[in-house]
Amino acid sequence: MEEEKFTTPQHRWDPLLKEWIIYAPRRNVRPFQGKQFDTKPKKTWDCPFCPNAPEGAGNWVVKQLPNRFAALDEHALPFEEQTIGSVHKQASNYGKCEVILYSQDHNASFGTLSHDNIVALVELWQERYRELSKLPEMKFPFIMENRGKEIGNSMTHPHGQIYSFPYFPPKVKKKWESFIEYHNDSKKCLLCDIVAEEMRDPKRIIEQNVDFIAEVPFYAHWAFEVHIIAKTHIPSIIEMNPSQVENLARIMKSIVNRYDALIGNNRLMPYVMAMFNAPVNTSERDVWHFHIEFYTPFRGQGKWKFLAGVELGTYNFINDALPEKNALILRNVKISSIQKEAND
Ligand SMILES: [Zn+2]
Ligand SMILES: [Zn+2]
Repeated sequence: MEEEKFTTPQHRWDPLLKEWIIYAPRRNVRPFQGKQFDTKPKKTWDCPFCPNAPEGAGNWVVKQLPNRFAALDEHALPFEEQTIGSVHKQASNYGKCEVILYSQDHNASFGTLSHDNIVALVELWQERYRELSKLPEMKFPFIMENRGKEIGNSMTHPHGQIYSFPYFPPKVKKKWESFIEYHNDSKKCLLCDIVAEEMRDPKRIIEQNVDFIAEVPFYAHWAFEVHIIAKTHIPSIIEMNPSQVENLARIMKSIVNRYDALIGNNRLMPYVMAMFNAPVNTSERDVWHFHIEFYTPFRGQGKWKFLAGVELGTYNFINDALPEKNALILRNVKISSIQKEAND
C-alpha cells in the first residue's frame, strides 16, 4: 500500500508558531487496553506491566522500563535541523521515552500507594533525572503521568513516563525565559516571590508542609489545576534532601487523594501530572525553581472541560471557575478514612 511508505518518525518545524511537532507514525500499532477493559471483566494477565508478564517480572517496588512504543528514540540520528525546500525544516526523532512502574499491584493507583512506595518512586525519579542529564544532547527530561481513559490513557496499571527532549519544548522555553527575565530584572526568583506572596495571603493554598505548598494558582488554566511548589529555591528533584523527598511524597499523595475524593463514587480522577525540573546541559539552570502541575478536565460532577475553538485556535484558555473558589473546594473535600489512614 502506498501509505505504508510514510512511516519514518521525525520532528517537523512549524515556522509560524516556531515549535517542533513530533511525528510518531509507528505508535499506531501500540496495544490499547481501554476497549478490552470497558467491555470485559478486568484481566490482569494481558497487562504487560504485571509481575507475570516479561516486562514486569522480578522483585521490585518501582521500576524503570524503556518505552516499547517510543515517540522519541535515543538510537535515532543526532538532532540536527535539516532544511527541506525553501521554508521547511525537519530533524530526527532523537530523544528518549521511558516508562516508570509505580507498583506491582495492577489495581493500585498513586493515591493508594504506601508512603514508602512513593518515596521509592521519588528516589527513582531522582536517579533517572541524574542519569538522563548525563546524555550530553538532552535538554529537558520530562517526568509525567497520564491517568484515566478520559485523557486517553488505556493502560490501567499504575505507571508514569519520562520523555527526554534534545531541545526546550514550547512551554518549557516560555517558563525558562520568564525565570531568566525576572532574575535579570530583579536578581530574584519569580516562583520564590510567588510562593512568598501566596503564603502571605493563603486563600489559594490547599495545603502545605515545611517544604512545599499545593495551591490552585492565581493563573490556573484548568478549573481544578493544582501546582505543588518548593518553598525554598530548589532547581530540581536531585537537589532535594531526604526530608524534602518525604514531604514531596506526602503532599503529592494528599493532592491525588483530594482529587479522588472530589470525583467520588470510588472512581479515579483522570489527570495529567507534569513535573518541571530544571533543564539540563545548559547554563543558568540554577535560575529554575522546581514545581509540579496537575491538570484535570473535571469541572464538577458530569462536567468536563474540552479544549475547543478558543483554546485550540488561539492557545487562549477560558476557565469558568475562579481559583480561590476551587482551592476552597479542594481544601475542604473529605478524604476517605481508608485514604487518611494510609496518609498517616
Ligand atoms: Zn498490570
Ligand atoms: Zn526560586
